[in-house]
Amino acid sequence: MAEPILRRGLLYVLSSPSGAGKSTIARKLLAADDEIGLSVSATTRPQREGEVDGQDYHFVSNARFDELVEQAAFLEWAHVFERRYGTLKSEVRETLDAGRDVLLDIDWQGTQQLKQVDPDIVRVFILPPSMEELERRLRDRGTDSDEVIAGRMQRAADEISHWAEYDYVLINDDADSCAAMAIDILHAERLRRNRRTGLVDFVRGLTG
Ligand code: 5GP
Repeated sequence: MAEPILRRGLLYVLSSPSGAGKSTIARKLLAADDEIGLSVSATTRPQREGEVDGQDYHFVSNARFDELVEQAAFLEWAHVFERRYGTLKSEVRETLDAGRDVLLDIDWQGTQQLKQVDPDIVRVFILPPSMEELERRLRDRGTDSDEVIAGRMQRAADEISHWAEYDYVLINDDADSCAAMAIDILHAERLRRNRRTGLVDFVRGLTG
């Protein structure tokens, strides 16, 4: 078989309101494709049960987060739910240097900042099939009070108001078919001419 055509790695951003199933989609996408790795964000929010430091997030103190901001270690960072979350330049660089694409699970604020830094990003937004279904999923998660649920629903509406800033918008009726669409987007975006830096040489070889 011929050598694959060289291409630039891509930054694949996934955003959605919490409860729309984004982490399930992200997990399925990572499991389906070896050539994409997750950018593990730094956050000041407390670690939840079952989460692994360095795998789900880099859990850091406020002071450490300040230091990282000071050192310009972030590609972007934002306040989400009164906590801070940020994408580390080192995470993205290491994955790209290893020849893999990067999946970023970040909110609309981070997506806007990242677009300024790198206009070539791929932005995918996941919508719930309905607000009733979103509320049902949020309630199913645990024992949150009505007040907490109402707050989450308000924040979900805020996040959803940014849907039109994304390149692709998927409706998560069914996790498997939504993940399949997210994977189709990844595969198609890899074929974009402007990222396939090796095409110039390939075509030169073809036509002399
Ligand atoms: P959670 O605390 O539920 O894991 O995440 C809360 C929200 O923070 C999610 O919408 C998630 O996409 C967002 N988030 C996670 N990491 C980052 C990050 O590095 N930057 C930004 N801007 N948002 C993030």
